Amino acid sequence: MGAFAHTTFIPLFWWYGYPFLAALNIASATAWTASWKLSRQKRRNFAVNLIAIEASLHATLATIITGQESAFQFYLIPLSCLVLICPDIDRWKAGLLGVIGMALFLSLSAPPSHGWFATTSRIPEAVAIINMGISVATMAGFAIIIRSMYEAQERNLTWMASRDTLTGLYNRRFTSDYLQQLAERQKRSPFSCCLALIDIDHFKTINDHYGHDAGDTCLVELAQTLTGHFRTSDIVCRWGGEEFVLVFPDASVQQIVPAINVYRQRLHQHPVVHGTLRIPVTLSAGVTALVPGEDFDTAINRADHLLYRAKAAGRDRVFSEPACDDGGLTVGEERIPRRHAGA
Ligand code: GH3
Ligand code: MG
Ligand code: MG
Repeated sequence: MGAFAHTTFIPLFWWYGYPFLAALNIASATAWTASWKLSRQKRRNFAVNLIAIEASLHATLATIITGQESAFQFYLIPLSCLVLICPDIDRWKAGLLGVIGMALFLSLSAPPSHGWFATTSRIPEAVAIINMGISVATMAGFAIIIRSMYEAQERNLTWMASRDTLTGLYNRRFTSDYLQQLAERQKRSPFSCCLALIDIDHFKTINDHYGHDAGDTCLVELAQTLTGHFRTSDIVCRWGGEEFVLVFPDASVQQIVPAINVYRQRLHQHPVVHGTLRIPVTLSAGVTALVPGEDFDTAINRADHLLYRAKAAGRDRVFSEPACDDGGLTVGEERIPRRHAGA
């Protein structure tokens, strides 16, 4: 775009009797094209330096030769800002260059009687307006870019603070805060809520047998299928290692246990695929209610205890409190699952 703008200025300068500036514009267009190629080669620092030097020299010379009425000195403002905000230029060097650019602008904007530039201009007023317009628009462009970068960075940080890197699920810190808030809300106006602690069975053996990458694939696959299986209003969290905590606001243990068992059954039919491997995965779970008035830690400990008992009873099963009758799929306090009854 810079190269194009400079090219259009060549006939203009020639027409209004500034042959030196017309020739200079050919050099400028070449510099802009070179800078574009440099930035495509990821040599951004070099590209910005080249443009900053070319454009500030050019703006200064154009103002000296055609007078400040032509408003070429205004280009020094966005240029100084560009140098100041460029992350690839050392902070002190950028600061110094930025201040020099601004000082040059002020000096070229001094009253013409004190100026060291031509006092009359043959450049039409429309060009001056265009010069000012482009300078202001460039500044606005910088402001928009910086704002959107800042917003994207903030979104990124918020996401990273609340998510697990491997699976993209909510992390333990976010889920603890969320559970804490739920517990607080429950104290003010009680509502039903339950949580499940899910743990992959013999995950260490899966790692040892199929490799750590295959283990990671299992975690990612379970993260995706768990998220898809439950409602978007439910929270699926990677609590740590191969453990997941699921939070179900406005749901009872009796409603959630069958849903987890359907998922558990699906897992039997769909082994995790990792390359050419098909990895059978089973899980055990402890499901309990978040009782109004109690700390969420107490509920987590209860779920952990239920999970421990599900493991001890042979794994691949759901233990809940209160125990649920789920047509033989659910293992309650004393019940044996139908799948394992004959074993
Ligand atoms: P159990 O059925 O009693 O739960 O046995 P387990 O083998 O699943 O449990 P254990 O606590 O003995 O082992 C958990 C394993 O999970 C050990 C650890 O190396 C593995 N693990 C933890 N985090 C990750 C991870 O991010 N990726 C992979 N691949 N493995 C992990
Ligand atoms: Mg495990
Ligand atoms: Mg575990």
